[in-house]
Amino acid sequence: MDKVSIIVPCYNEEETVPVFFETVEEILKNAPFDYEYVFINDGSEDKTLQKLRELYILAPDKVRFASFSRNFGKEAGLLAGLTEAVGDYSVVMDVDLQDPPEMLLEMYDILQKEPEIDVVGTRRVTRDGEPAIRSLFAKLFYKIINKISDAQIIDGARDYRMMRKAMVDSILSLTERNRFSKGIFSWVGYNTKYLEYKNIERVAGNTSWSFWSLLRYSIDGIVSFSEAPLNISIYFGLFSVLIAFIGAVFIVVRTLLFGNAVQGWSSMVCIFLALGGAQLLCLGIIGKYIGKIYTEVKRRPSYLIKETEKTYEGKPK
Ligand code: UDP
Ligand code: MG
Repeated sequence: MDKVSIIVPCYNEEETVPVFFETVEEILKNAPFDYEYVFINDGSEDKTLQKLRELYILAPDKVRFASFSRNFGKEAGLLAGLTEAVGDYSVVMDVDLQDPPEMLLEMYDILQKEPEIDVVGTRRVTRDGEPAIRSLFAKLFYKIINKISDAQIIDGARDYRMMRKAMVDSILSLTERNRFSKGIFSWVGYNTKYLEYKNIERVAGNTSWSFWSLLRYSIDGIVSFSEAPLNISIYFGLFSVLIAFIGAVFIVVRTLLFGNAVQGWSSMVCIFLALGGAQLLCLGIIGKYIGKIYTEVKRRPSYLIKETEKTYEGKPK
């Protein structure tokens, strides 16, 4: 029988972990495939690890877990999960049941019936229950990144997807440290089929994303998959030189016609400020890329695992 690895990153999810396990177990009890859970505890400060150990004791043949030494972020959790997974198929899903587990059966079914499909993804067609401002910025982000980068990301596409082993291996062959999964999923290619569903709210707990962390995540995504921001400085520069040239011609002509007069210092100040600001902005953009290069060349691991089900002391005999 085929084996499906269900990869679940968890950060401060003590309330959701047990509900998640129960719900998925119920749905998969007659599943036509074998499966394993690969839970990643992303340095939670609450009792998430305790809950994972309990699940492991409850179902040692199905539950695996890896616990990070600190919070490394969801991207690191996904990477760790995909690395640990041994299944013929891998699924990544959130623990808060916002990714409907019923779809697991449907995804598997499609991969069985349609051999040319390599990955079944999901996309939310509504964003009900999400703050309006968050939806607005999300839309804007997808517009920008699709325009300027070489990774095409579908609006509303979730990380929730079932992939064949070949695709998982391709994803793991990308060794970059700055991991932006949405971009990586699209960059590696393979034939994707999307299933659509309406947004569902979390069963319990709170989202760990704030507006600012999402903004930072978006900027990281753009910087990881596009060099367009670097070109901004070139256009800015060309534009300023053009304006300066026109201005110079204007001043020479005016002086020749009307004589010299000290005026216009306030507009001067504005121009200095605008140019100074533009230079700082461009420096910042370059700095962002240099920062990324710096993390890449240090080649630090994306995460550190402190405990797994294999090293857990209290394991059943
Ligand atoms: N998550 C994680 N590490 C983090 C933040 C989140 O592993 O630093 C996990 C979290 O436990 C959940 C998933 O990533 O399983 C999605 O997080 P969340 O539900 O907070 O995000 P949202 O659904 O609001 O985008
Ligand atoms: Mg969620």
